[in-house]
Parts: sequence; C-alpha cells; structure tokens
Amino acid sequence: MSRVFLASRNAKKLAEMQRILAEHVPGVEVVGLDDVPAYDEPVEDEPDFAGNALLKARAGARVTGLPSLADDSGLCVDALNGMPGVLSARWSGPPKSDVRNNALLLAQLSDVPDERRGAHFACAVALVHPDGRELVVEGRMDGRIIREVRGDGGFGYDVVFVADEHTDEGLTSAELDPAEKDRISHRGRALRELAPQVAGLLA
Ligand code: IMP
Repeated sequence: MSRVFLASRNAKKLAEMQRILAEHVPGVEVVGLDDVPAYDEPVEDEPDFAGNALLKARAGARVTGLPSLADDSGLCVDALNGMPGVLSARWSGPPKSDVRNNALLLAQLSDVPDERRGAHFACAVALVHPDGRELVVEGRMDGRIIREVRGDGGFGYDVVFVADEHTDEGLTSAELDPAEKDRISHRGRALRELAPQVAGLLA
C-alpha cells in the first residue's frame, strides 16, 4: 500500500486529500501530523504560497521518509496589492480570528467602489519525494469582496467572498454546498491537478 504524508492536522484537509488521491492511487493512505512523531515544524516565512508549501513538504519528507505533501493558501485582494496573501490567517494580529480578520478587511475596503473590489483565493500544494524530486501546483478562485458578512458554511474569508461563478445569485463561498465549493475552489483545483502527478511519482 502507498503511504503519503500531508503536513496538516486539519481532519477535513486530510479527508479531502485522501478522497481526491484515492481516485488516482487505489489503496493510498494519507497520514497527517498527528500520525507521526512530533517534530519542529518550519516557520512559514516565505513571501509566497509556493515557497511556504515547499518548506513544509520538505520538512515532512526529511522527518518521515515518506513522499510528503503540504499546502499554503490565502486571499489576495486587488485593491490591497494582493494582501493579505500569505498573511491571511493572521491579518488582524494574534490570536487568529476569522471574525476580526473579516471586520478589518471590510473596514479597509469601505471606500473602495464595487468595480475595484476584485480578489482571488490562491492555493499552492507541494509534493516532495525523499529522493529529492519536488513539484508545486497552484490553483485559484476569482471573485469579489462584498460589503457585509453572509453565510455560515466554509471558514476564513468565505463569508465576504462571491466567486465569479456565483455572481448572478450573489452567493458567498460560505453559502455554497461543500461539493460546489470543492468544484470551483483554489484548493480543489490544485489538488485535482496534483493527484495524477502523485500517482506517477508513487508508481
Ligand atoms: P491555510 O493555508 O489553510 O493556513 O489558510 C490560510 C488562511 O487563508 C486561512 O486561515 C483563511 O483565512 C484563508 N483561506 C484559505 N483558503 C480559504 C478558503 O477556502 N476560504 C476562506 N478563507 C480561506
């Protein structure tokens, strides 16, 4: 059986990776940070998503000796020159809070007119093999930031983001079925692109 390490404690991310990978690698087992002995995780100090994903996947491959995956993602707002970007999770400072992050973002964009409220979510997923082979894929979901918080699904900035695919109904990503969000999301797109390549690398 093929085992792959994903440098994450997030049970939803592990299940999503297992589901998508299993379509290409029958019998694959995805193990997470809680399934391996604890190690010093690297500080995510790279300026872009791909750099941070690679840092985490390289550390995973070194410590576990398994082909290792890691992702990094965030929201890039046009009117803020691409911020919060790699700072998305901690945009309003510690402790991490989605509620404060969204309130700060809406305040920062309060004077920005509708036609300049474009934004996208980005996700990089890195795969590092212990033999040194590496690859990174990226996915994005384009849309815009609305003026209030709406919906109670999803997480993070989903409540203020309307994807281009849902402009007509005006549904935020937090109002979409999880399957529909997977279909159009930055993470779903990156994972679906990566899965066949993971299969090739494990073959
Ligand atoms: P991480 O890469 O999973 O650590 O995510 C970084 C941060 O980006 C999260 O804490 C969220 O604030 C934001 N983010 C990433 N993906 C999404 C998404 O699909 N919806 C909403 N927020 C997201």
